[in-house]
This record gives sequence, C-alpha cells and structure tokens, in this order.
Amino acid sequence: MSDYQRQREHVRVAVIGAGFGGLGAAVRLRREGVTDFVVLERAGSVGGTWRDNSYPGCACDVPSHLYSFSFAPNPAWPHSFSGQPHIRAYLEHVTDTFGIRPHLRLNSEVKALRWDTEQLRWEIETASGALTADVVVSATGPLSDPRIPDVPGLDTFPGKVFHSSRWDHDYDLRGKRVAMVGTGASAVQIVPAIQPDVDRLTLFQRTPPWVLPRADRRITSAEQWLHAKVPATAALRRGLLWAAREAQVSAFTKRPGRLRLVENFAKAHLRRAVKDPALRARLTPDYSIGCKRILLSNTYYPALTRPNVDLVASALAEVRGSTLVAADGTESEADAIVFGTGFRVTDMPIAERVTGAAGTTLAEEWREGMASLRGASAAGFPNFLFVIGPNTGLGNNSMILIIESQLNYLADFLRQLDTIGGRAALDARPSAVRAWNRRLQDRMTGTVWNSGCDSWYLDARGNNTVIWPGTTSEFRRVTRQVDLAEYQLLRVRSTPRTPARTEAAR
Ligand SMILES: Cc1cc2nc3c(=O)[nH]c(=O)nc-3n(C[C@H](O)[C@H](O)[C@H](O)COP(=O)(O)OP(=O)(O)OC[C@H]3O[C@@H](n4cnc5c(N)ncnc54)[C@H](O)[C@@H]3O)c2cc1C
Repeated sequence: MSDYQRQREHVRVAVIGAGFGGLGAAVRLRREGVTDFVVLERAGSVGGTWRDNSYPGCACDVPSHLYSFSFAPNPAWPHSFSGQPHIRAYLEHVTDTFGIRPHLRLNSEVKALRWDTEQLRWEIETASGALTADVVVSATGPLSDPRIPDVPGLDTFPGKVFHSSRWDHDYDLRGKRVAMVGTGASAVQIVPAIQPDVDRLTLFQRTPPWVLPRADRRITSAEQWLHAKVPATAALRRGLLWAAREAQVSAFTKRPGRLRLVENFAKAHLRRAVKDPALRARLTPDYSIGCKRILLSNTYYPALTRPNVDLVASALAEVRGSTLVAADGTESEADAIVFGTGFRVTDMPIAERVTGAAGTTLAEEWREGMASLRGASAAGFPNFLFVIGPNTGLGNNSMILIIESQLNYLADFLRQLDTIGGRAALDARPSAVRAWNRRLQDRMTGTVWNSGCDSWYLDARGNNTVIWPGTTSEFRRVTRQVDLAEYQLLRVRSTPRTPARTEAAR
C-alpha cells in the first residue's frame, strides 16, 4: 500500500448528493449518532432538483405540507403547491437547522467508486480528492441528469439551446421565437410562464399529456399562524393529504378502469379551456390517464390558445440551421430551443461509475435493466445503498415518503453492521434480488403504467423499473428492517487476505 493510500481520508459513510435524499440521509445519520460521514455534492450548493430546476414557473406537483420532511415541518409554506425558490430555501434551512454544513463537500463530483475486496471498503475518487468509506449512500437523484434527444442537425442551429433543468437566465427570451420541445411536467409549467413574453412559441408535442386542474391557493397567514402555534394542525393537514393519495393507489395498480372518471374530468378541463375542436383533438391523449405522469395546470391549455403559440403535434425530427423540422414535415423558424425532454431515469448515470466486487460496473450488471433489493441494494455491490433506487418512484404521491422509508432501511443496515462488529460488509444475495424483482414485475401486469403507453417509467425492454407498484405504507413496511437472510456477510480475514463469505447470522 502506498503512502498516498495510507494517508487517504477514511469515513464511515459517504453520501453522494445533497438533494432531499442526501440531506435526509445526513440528518438521519446524525440522529443515529453517526457523525463520521461526508456528503459529496458535485454542485456548489445544496438543493438537488430544486437548485437545478429554476425555470420560469417551476413548482411542486404535490402539496408542500406533504412534500417536505416529516421531521422538519414548515408552518410557513406560502402556497399549497409552493414554488422552486421556497423549496430550495427550505432545503438550505434544513441543512442549517440539523447541523449538516460541516459534513458537506461541495464541488466534489464523484467520478469513480471501486469496492476494495480486501479491505471491504469503497475507494472514492471525487473532483476534490480521494477518500475511502465503509458504506456509500447513493442519493444522486432520479431526475438529475438531463436527457437531450439526438436530433440530427442540432449542431447547425445558430441560436440558443438549453435544457429546462439548466435554464440560462442570462439569455433574454423576450421578443424571441422560441421552440419548446416536449410536453412533460416541466414544459407544462414553462409554456404559460414564457408565452406572454416571447414573440412566437412553437411547442413540439410527441404525445399529449393528461392535464388536471391545479388546486393551488395561497396559504393564509391565519393558517400559517395556527400551524406554527399548534403543530398538530400541520400534522393533521399532512395526514389528510397523504390519506387522500394513498386511497387512490389501487386505481393505478389494480383497477385502472376506475380512472375513467378522472379521465372524464380531465376532458372537461380541456373542453372548458380550448374551444377550437381541431386544437382540442390534438391535445386529447389516446392512452389511459395515469399511464404517464398526470400533470396539473390551470394555465397550460389557455396559453396554447393564444395567437403567438403554435402546437406542432409531432416530435422534432431535424434541425436545418434556424429551421426546425417536425416528424410530420412541419417547418418553423426559431431563435432558441428549450428542451423539456426529461432526464436519464432508467439508465442511472452513477451506475457507470461504480465498480463492484466482481470488477464490473453497476451499469454492466444492469445491461438487462435496473434491478435492486427493496430499492436499496444491488448484488455484488456490498455496503452500497440507494436512496430512490430502482422501482421506488411514485405516480401520485410525495417522494419524500419513499426517501424517509429508505432512511429507515439505511439506519437498520448500519445497526446490523454494528451488531455484527469488526470489519464486515453486507452484499445482497442474487437470489434475493431476483425474487424481489420477479414479484415486482408480476405486480406490474395489470397496472395502468403497463397499459400500453410509452413513458419514462419504462426501460428499453419495456420493463417498468422506475415505479413502486404499491402504497407508501406498504413500502414503509417492507423497508423497515434489513432481513439478513437476504444478504451475504463478508468479513476481512487476516490470512489469507481475502474476504470470507459466510451465511449471514439472523
Ligand atoms: C422539476 C421537477 C419537479 C418535481 N416535482 C416533484 C413533485 O411534485 N413531487 C415529487 O414527489 N417529486 C417531484 N420531483 C422528483 C424529485 O426528483 C424528487 O422528489 C426529489 O427531489 C429527489 O431528491 P434526490 O435527493 O433523490 O435527488 P436530487 O434532488 O436530484 O439530488 C441529487 C443530487 O445529487 C447530485 N449528484 C448527482 N450525481 C453526482 C455525482 N456523481 N457526484 C456528486 N453529486 C452528484 C446532484 O448534483 C444533486 O444535487 C420533481 C423533479 C423535478 C425535476
């Protein structure tokens, strides 16, 4: 071992990412009495999604009293669905309140992780130096790395090009001809926010989304006062919001036919806003509501009826200089292209950077698609836990509920390692991973997500490796404790210097 390796900093836990997941993990570690940890973040500040997505109109689609940590209620939420600046400020506040700042390593993009099979620890290369850790918590976010389609000729475009999650605030869209590509959750918020200012807005729509009204309103100062003085009222509010969403789950998972009512409601919402039958026809989806993420907006449809907006009901197929050509042959001119085309979800970018016990990367192991044990660990990658791993996404509820359940699992994982004692590691058994995923994929049959649309929940093989097909209370139950029978215990042996694999003790 070189001097460099000997002197390298070692921590018990390295958390990657400082969004809701990574910050939540940091708070939980401190609460469990673990202080020997770092949070490695590639950006210069905390916030994750809510730092990166600063586009006009960016806001949450889940009410703020539910889209926040249960251990850090915020009585001062200004709106039922608060905007990005407030959510970002909330995460900064959580970072200060729970003493997370000293653990932060900002501007420290994790470039590579390699499992050391002799020492049973992770070697981590970051943009700010190298370190080792007993346990790695990967909270790099499901919607963190933008996906821009490979449009032929895009490099010939003379104007401005950016992705919705990397908004260029120095570029003034006022008076410009802007092309918006995509009609997902971000585009539905961006279109009405920029439409009044731009000269022309051309929207490229591959498939229309289902859009429901957004029941947003200002939270009154009387409500805020009550929530601050009587915290039980905020907890009750959160509980009611949660229960309403929990009750909807069976319609998504078992009885998609019940969503017909919601579909009719969405059609009425469209009819009220769009009087032109031809435009309405192009905005009416031909797949079951819920199959793709249901979007919420009161302003999207009205914006599309404005005279400076053109809806091209076709994907952007080619760029020829400043001329944009749709798949249906429609041509339009633009000064700027904004891609609202989503993120790398089913091909988690961190997987390319993690090399496990067999010397292969997680991306190589996941050639056939992402697969984990309880959304938390992958076979051959010992002491490596995900926050928001495969099949932990929700179609209708707050991801913070999932994150908190995964933190319960993390806390129990560390407790188990403490109980085992010595230098040890837990590696998910391939059989346990297979059994978990077989059950998950069986349950996907008959869900609305597998009812025939092409969504970002499905991977290249058509498998849904993104969504959790159950309630959040079920997820909490199945991640409450680590079942050691699902893991192999690895221990360092002094001679020979290779880890022994033994049956995990119960
Ligand atoms: C516009 C938008 C709106 C959303 N609205 C909702 C909503 O209404 N309800 C809901 O439940 N969810 C919503 N989501 C989903 C949202 O992603 C999750 O709710 C949650 O914020 C994810 O938190 P996270 O910490 O896992 O990931 P992120 O917030 O994405 O944080 C990941 C962090 O990891 C860092 N990172 C990534 N790779 C590396 C690396 N190699 N090295 C170091 N750092 C790295 C990133 O810089 C980032 O800071 C929304 C997402 C977006 C983009």
